[in-house]
Amino acid sequence: MAIPSHLTALLERLTLEQKVRLLTGASVWSMHEEPAVGLRSIAFSDGPTGVRGAAMDDRDPSASLPSASCVSATWDLEQVRRLGALIAAEARAKNVDVVLGPTVNLHRSPRGGRHFEAFSEDPYLTGEFGAAYVGAVQAHGVATTAKHYVANDAETDRFTVDVRADERTLRELYLAPFERMVDEGAWLVMSSYNSVNGTTMTANSLLRDPLKDEWGFDGVVVSDWTAVRDTEPSANSGQDLVMPGPAGPWGEALVEAVRAGRVPEAAIDDKVARLLLLASRVGALDSGDPVTPVARWDDAAIAALLRETAADGMVLARNSGILPVEPRDGLTVAVVGQHALRARAQGGGSATVFPRHVVTPLEGLRSAYGADSVRYAPGLPPTDELQLFTRTTVTDPVTGGEGVHVRFLDQDGATFSEENFPSGRLAWLGDPRLLRAAHIEITTRLTVDRDGRYDLGFAGVGGFTFEIDGEHVGTEALAPGGGDTVTDFLNPPVQVFPRELTAGRAVELRLTWTPAPMGDFPFGMVQLGQRDVFGDPAEELRQAVELAAASDVAVVVVGTTEAIESEGFDRPGLALPEGQDELVRQVLAANPRTVVIVNSGSPVLMPWLDEAAAVVLSWFPGQEFGAALADVLTGAREPGGRLPTTWPASEDDVPVWAVEPENGRLDYTEGLHVGYRAWLAAAREGGHEPALPFGSGLGYTTWRIGEPTVAADGDRLAVLVDLANTGARHGKQVLQAYLSRPDSAVERPVAWLAGFTAVRADAGEQVRARIDIAPRAFQHWDTDAHAWTTESGPFTLRIATSATDPGHTVTVTPTTGA
Ligand code: BGC
Repeated sequence: MAIPSHLTALLERLTLEQKVRLLTGASVWSMHEEPAVGLRSIAFSDGPTGVRGAAMDDRDPSASLPSASCVSATWDLEQVRRLGALIAAEARAKNVDVVLGPTVNLHRSPRGGRHFEAFSEDPYLTGEFGAAYVGAVQAHGVATTAKHYVANDAETDRFTVDVRADERTLRELYLAPFERMVDEGAWLVMSSYNSVNGTTMTANSLLRDPLKDEWGFDGVVVSDWTAVRDTEPSANSGQDLVMPGPAGPWGEALVEAVRAGRVPEAAIDDKVARLLLLASRVGALDSGDPVTPVARWDDAAIAALLRETAADGMVLARNSGILPVEPRDGLTVAVVGQHALRARAQGGGSATVFPRHVVTPLEGLRSAYGADSVRYAPGLPPTDELQLFTRTTVTDPVTGGEGVHVRFLDQDGATFSEENFPSGRLAWLGDPRLLRAAHIEITTRLTVDRDGRYDLGFAGVGGFTFEIDGEHVGTEALAPGGGDTVTDFLNPPVQVFPRELTAGRAVELRLTWTPAPMGDFPFGMVQLGQRDVFGDPAEELRQAVELAAASDVAVVVVGTTEAIESEGFDRPGLALPEGQDELVRQVLAANPRTVVIVNSGSPVLMPWLDEAAAVVLSWFPGQEFGAALADVLTGAREPGGRLPTTWPASEDDVPVWAVEPENGRLDYTEGLHVGYRAWLAAAREGGHEPALPFGSGLGYTTWRIGEPTVAADGDRLAVLVDLANTGARHGKQVLQAYLSRPDSAVERPVAWLAGFTAVRADAGEQVRARIDIAPRAFQHWDTDAHAWTTESGPFTLRIATSATDPGHTVTVTPTTGA
């Protein structure tokens, strides 16, 4: 990068040691300050679905946004722009300069554990959503990070897997969204844990070319957390910043390598210049412009936006006409399923935030239909997860305020530090007290509001003793779960002990934790809570079915759990957790007026799909889940979503299944044929149709879609389509433009998405939609010339409402239009 002159002057003020110090983080979430150049510390936070800030607990709550697969299901870039403004405001309120998002990896296999956090199986849709996010957040002076560069599309062996993909596949699929992010001006890119074609990404030549050299990226390449594991190869590559810190493989070793001439000092200067440029962009340099002020959003404005976006991303997969169900006097609604009570508003892992509240489906439906109309039955046993004590149920026995009291004890049993947590979620990241402590004592006072049996307990890794009202009830050594460290940290093993409790009578809980020995990076998560108590499973199922049979309408909420859909591992299969399909079947048999809600971030099998009166895919819709769901079911809003990824009917039909490396390698042998492209190719060979094709989804109205007209507009093609809302309600339609080239001289997907637009119209209204097709849509990567190239001659353009809808076709040529 040509270093801007004002930064050269700053660089010259720094010694080699000072420069290298800046290239490793100061802590888990921050960079070093450097008074010699007037640089303050820059703060990072995870950010794809909300800005968590530095705390991994409830002390600093965040707005919980719909996850990426819900956002992209809106097919409406305006929605992501509005969310981007909220993310920037949240970041500023928490003094965060850099958000670690968007995630622009692809849904290559539906089994990918972080599917919910990425937008789509299609690179164009992913690129457009990622770019809208980048532009909207950075417009407020908050930096974004396009991650994880590159081919980090699954979680199995994510630190070591060597992804093998050919040049054209990388360019047209996996690099394409990153190219779009750079084009949009993303200020950071995160290098991923995995290798690509034999070299770990933190030392991979792809960091230089295409990222920095060809695309002209002038920002910072930050490593994924702990991804840099060497000194010279990574420092000599395009890697700029090692996170987290302060320990790490660069530091003194890098200073020595520079002195010995094994790493050129010019490479260090380039990295530091990039950091200084980032600092000037986020207002962290005394000599630069100050930080852009961004007003805080009030809770009502946050809730209104999140409610609207969540509903706009929910996909109506099937509707026999039962939906919407408007509230009316005397209506009885049976709500069935654990997910109605224990909603999954977000996916697990580093994207997790801790919201002030989550509106559960049960709460949302109760407030929409009236508490008297709605009755609930879980039907199935709860998951193993702990329901953490909240600020309203536990009191700190030392301060008398809400929450939990923590004491750090040294070898002699003396307390050297104390703190309070507002709830049963306790987390420490990079906290040196964990290294000094021999034991950590956690005490709280619990008061329940109903008599009965409670399964009280804790989760964590290490040695534990647990006392209830002074009585020792257990000593446990909980070993890591066997996943990677992030998984163990965020999803620790659980232990519970049954206890009869009396309403209103407080019980004293004392947990003593002996952390396992730690390396340079002290971290730990301990949770205190209870597991839902459940009766006889057959009896609970019978009650749920009976309730459904006796109600006018049944709403069954099913979904994945934290244990099967989260960062750190992939899903073994696509079936819902055990018992849920059977629950759905029995409720459907008991009441034909049954609506099934699927609460998952990625595709699941729905063997009962054709039997249900209606099916709504809610994704992980964020904190306003229940309110948005109620809007959709009552018809207050239309479910606006269309699938950003294909949903299969059977595992056997899935074109790209494997995520397990063989001998350390994961070969992307399918090349260009991922997602709907592969489904379309399989259909030509007589293969099965998916359960729900890419781009599909229903609404509450009907449409008449006219023939497209195409005209050249500069280097783009402008496609104009007149469409009319022929139904009785306001509605939304998503028009999609697919290109194909049947007689291409090169291998091509059967069809590929080239543009889209979301259109809204009132009943009876006629509107004109415009879709712009950019020159890149016609190009392919020429592996001889190592360049983008455009085949001359005609392409077929199809304007449709899904990847399989025949729609209207028209012949176009890239430069001249129709
Ligand atoms: C994840 C990143 C995340 C980082 C910091 C990593 O494990 O892969 O997406 O930003 O942790 O939480």
